Amino acid sequence: MVRRVRFAPSPTGNLHIGSARTALFNWLFTRRHDGVLVLRIEDTDRDRSKVEHVESIMHMLRWLNIDWDEGPYYQSEGIDRHRKNALDLLSAGKAYRDFTTPEELAQEREAVKTGKVGHHISRRRAESLAHGEAEEMAENGIPHAIRFYVPEGKTVWEDIVHGEMIFQNEDIDDLVILRGDGSPTYNLAVTSDDAHQNISHVIRGDDHLSNTPKQILIYQAMGWEIPIFGHVPMILGSDGKRLSKRHGATAVREYEEQGILPDAMTNFLALLGWSPGDDKEVMTADELVDLFSIERVLKKSSIFDSKKLDWLSGQHFNIATAQDLESELTAMLVAAELVNLKDLQKRWDWYLSLIDILKTRARRIPDLVDLARPFLLDDIDFDPEAVRKHWLKDPKKVLDSIKILRLRLEGLTWEIDVFEKCIRDYAKEISVGLGQVVQPIRVAVTGRQSSPGIFDVFYLLGKERVLVRLDRAIEFLGELIE
Ligand code: GLU
Repeated sequence: MVRRVRFAPSPTGNLHIGSARTALFNWLFTRRHDGVLVLRIEDTDRDRSKVEHVESIMHMLRWLNIDWDEGPYYQSEGIDRHRKNALDLLSAGKAYRDFTTPEELAQEREAVKTGKVGHHISRRRAESLAHGEAEEMAENGIPHAIRFYVPEGKTVWEDIVHGEMIFQNEDIDDLVILRGDGSPTYNLAVTSDDAHQNISHVIRGDDHLSNTPKQILIYQAMGWEIPIFGHVPMILGSDGKRLSKRHGATAVREYEEQGILPDAMTNFLALLGWSPGDDKEVMTADELVDLFSIERVLKKSSIFDSKKLDWLSGQHFNIATAQDLESELTAMLVAAELVNLKDLQKRWDWYLSLIDILKTRARRIPDLVDLARPFLLDDIDFDPEAVRKHWLKDPKKVLDSIKILRLRLEGLTWEIDVFEKCIRDYAKEISVGLGQVVQPIRVAVTGRQSSPGIFDVFYLLGKERVLVRLDRAIEFLGELIE
């Protein structure tokens, strides 16, 4: 059996973390089992559904490399079918016309609350109408909804995530399937579409758990095959409350804008409620596909931990190749006027090596832009904090050692082994650890306290630039001492 699943967002806003995770689990499930992923836009809420939201949701799915095999279908296109289904249920005696006005309903709800009467208010009212009266009222244009008749008994299904689920039907109110204005409700439309599109597995958030028995009852009443359901757990903020703006960015777009790598984001989303069962945490999309199993999704809610996302993001910068990162970085470097594309193309191998030594220190693409500055700009500023920490404790000694090294470096062929030996020998000569020699030099050639390994830095800067920067440091320190 080909597994057919769907992702069914309502285009009423940005793609949120929770929906993205639902989309990802559906995608992983289909890719794992050679299934089919259908994208269905649930746009029946005409006031809140917007084309721009559809576009931004699809943009975010593409950014996450979540591709779909069919669709997008639009729920609104099925509205005639939804209406027909409601009328079929009506003529089969499995639904009824409900003429109760909202005011009457509110009044009777009060009565239910105070225990004067049982629930199923609308049903009682419908049953109180004489034979044929409802049809006559409908023909006379009296506004009314169509409600589904919830039968007696219980509704049971084996949820892939939660195991056996049992709902007593007496706890379920007869639900409206077609509103007074002729529009279908979510429970009718979604059931009709899932059946129509031959969806075999419904994987969605567990905020829909209470809808599932209603949908199953509709499947049964229509004689449709019931899909398998799996409800994935809620995502909570670090304080255990439902994830919201208070906990930071909840729209996936914000992470794209921050320059998180899409692979880091999918890795992070996958771990919200699922794990491969060992300690493995850093996984590429291919590895996720290999390892994913919906049965391993946890019942309990998962916690959105932004520190973990940061960490994973760094890990994915390690895995990414310079080529993976290049195009986005190049665009940003050009936009920041740090490079000219033609110049960069002339030294493309150099540029890729630069990305290679910088990427392990980045967690967001803009970090790379910043890390690249000392390598791209002619002039650098000395960071005052770096100066204070590594030069000012003993400026005279620092000046002397930079002077000596500058002289020695000048005469060398510019190969890593060669200048590395020169610096190591010097540290030995003056009996200090390598760090004590390297730190002041790092400040001199990058302006900063931290950078990639100094020998890589030397190599990529090139001899000429290293010497110019050492000269500037000598000048700076000289003036300071005077
Ligand atoms: N459109 C619904 C939502 O965005 C999803 C419906 C479903 O998956 O059944 O919550």
